[in-house]
Amino acid sequence: AHAPCVNVDAATLRAWPLPMPSTDGDKEQRGHVLILGGSREMPGAVILAATAALRAGAGKLTIATGASVAQLVALALPEARVIGLAETGQGGFTGEAVGMLDPLADKVNAILIGPGMQDEAATAALVRALLPRLCGSDVSVVLDACAMGILLSPDEDKDDEEDRGEAPFRFAQPVIVTPHAGEMAHLTGERKEDICAEPDRHAAQAARRWNAVVALKGARTLVIAPDGTRWQHEGGNVGLAISGSGDTLAGIVAGLAARGASLTQAACWGVALHARAGEQLAERFGMLGYLAREIPNEIPALMESFA
Ligand code: AMP
Ligand code: MG
Repeated sequence: AHAPCVNVDAATLRAWPLPMPSTDGDKEQRGHVLILGGSREMPGAVILAATAALRAGAGKLTIATGASVAQLVALALPEARVIGLAETGQGGFTGEAVGMLDPLADKVNAILIGPGMQDEAATAALVRALLPRLCGSDVSVVLDACAMGILLSPDEDKDDEEDRGEAPFRFAQPVIVTPHAGEMAHLTGERKEDICAEPDRHAAQAARRWNAVVALKGARTLVIAPDGTRWQHEGGNVGLAISGSGDTLAGIVAGLAARGASLTQAACWGVALHARAGEQLAERFGMLGYLAREIPNEIPALMESFA
């Protein structure tokens, strides 16, 4: 009953070239990424994601992160404009962030929310407030880590509590979510073992219900569009199972989307580039012990090798 599954291999990528800037392009045309994330305990996640977005070829970067870490993030990433946001104390941002980010809504091409954020309730509320402002501005939205918690929030359009329970959250705009099996279990209420036993079914169902492109990550990663169109990628290695790895993937995807790739193209290319980066790092360092921060460095040359 499933749509056929396309393997994301070198031939698939070559037949699906990334948008390229014109030779006389400026940084606006190269794509502007906004990354919202980072907290007192995890400022590094936003640095990893942001580096990856630039390495994927985006031209302009704005980071919105906790005020307590904004200066150190700015020093770590001299390329970025850094906006400091009021923090909740649990690793999220207060509602004040909505007003501060509002002026950026129609200026950025892609927005990644989630790396290094910990306060799921506050983050879900923030994402819920931000998404309608981004609607219609044709910005691509990438949600990772606890920003995906918006999927657990009740549909406020239904005032009856029983209806709410039955109406899962649906996105009103193009969004990609990037859960691993554990997050997918959390978001769907299924057991992780059941997700792992039938990843295709669960991811397809989620993509349709949520109206999102779902990238269900693992040694085999699935990319499924709301209409059921499916891709799979097998590759990389267990060296990629490290802290910060997913942050770099999310950053690559956001960077590609900012350049003008569709969400499914950004997801498929991002997954393949990330995995291949892991393979190259394993050849150079050994399979265990390369660092997430080393993944983005591989991306520029890899993009050319797949072009
Ligand atoms: P996260 O769990 O969010 O940090 O993301 C981990 C990233 O590493 C995802 O892109 C996974 O697809 C990838 N990954 C994790 N474990 C493996 C593995 N055993 N083989 C290949 N890729 C993996
Ligand atoms: Mg992750």
